[in-house]
Amino acid sequence: MTLRELIRAGAEYLTENGVEDAAFDARQLAMFLFSLNGTALLLQGDRTVSPEEQAAYRALLERRAAGEPLQYLLGQWEFCGEPFFVGPGVLIPRPETEQLAQWCIETVRDRGLKCVYDLCAGTGCIGLTVAKSCPAARVYLLELYDGALAYLKQNEAAFALPNTAVIQADVLRGLPQGLPAPDLIVSNPPYIRAEEIPGLQKEVGFEPVAALDGGGDGYVFYRAIAEQWLPLLPKGGFAAVECGEGQPETVAELFGPTLECAVEKDLYGVPRFVTGARL
Ligand code: GLN
Repeated sequence: MTLRELIRAGAEYLTENGVEDAAFDARQLAMFLFSLNGTALLLQGDRTVSPEEQAAYRALLERRAAGEPLQYLLGQWEFCGEPFFVGPGVLIPRPETEQLAQWCIETVRDRGLKCVYDLCAGTGCIGLTVAKSCPAARVYLLELYDGALAYLKQNEAAFALPNTAVIQADVLRGLPQGLPAPDLIVSNPPYIRAEEIPGLQKEVGFEPVAALDGGGDGYVFYRAIAEQWLPLLPKGGFAAVECGEGQPETVAELFGPTLECAVEKDLYGVPRFVTGARL
């Protein structure tokens, strides 16, 4: 069997098992297994694969067919053009979140802000991206859970920036003692209503519940940010958060007493972010 035939059979198997982007996933898993980039994969399409390689590929396909996210199988996923380590225990960076990081970068640069907090940092995709593009700012990445923290530290080490600090802390308890007050707060916190969690897409079920569960009504983290974090901003300080579908208006109301808020749409046209400056 050639590599090309192996991938074609893999795509068919994934399609039969209801995987949405079967051809893409089959290719990605082959690139991962054989350590080839897209071009090398094309060039080596006629290479024969050994029975051991076929078995190893089959094992990956079976895990993917069972619903394990492609990103966890690959162990890395790109966000704003940089690879981030991911795996069970941490939320996979989503493309819509890139907009949030971009907004922060522009705001930090335009306003010369010095102190940024990424609350519920997960992989660190937002905070590390901002830190890399804004060397004059210091970025604190707060994360509570050990599972996520392992990836966060790994990603921080890979970025190897002088201006980041990872802090294990509960965002619901406010600013940890001894840390400076923020000029900009950014967060993509857990926001799903507890009762909705069992009905989520199969792949999402492999992601940690703690990264998804926004408490009873889904607003627990936004409320904590409104009450405990936004008042720490100086006049003219900024905040930006990502929300679930249908949530931005309520979040804007929660932030209303402290921030001049705007709701922004994501790349799919869905109202997704609340941004604002301290009144
Ligand atoms: N801030 C991280 C992200 O955007 C993790 C978010 C989370 O765990 N809810 O990917």
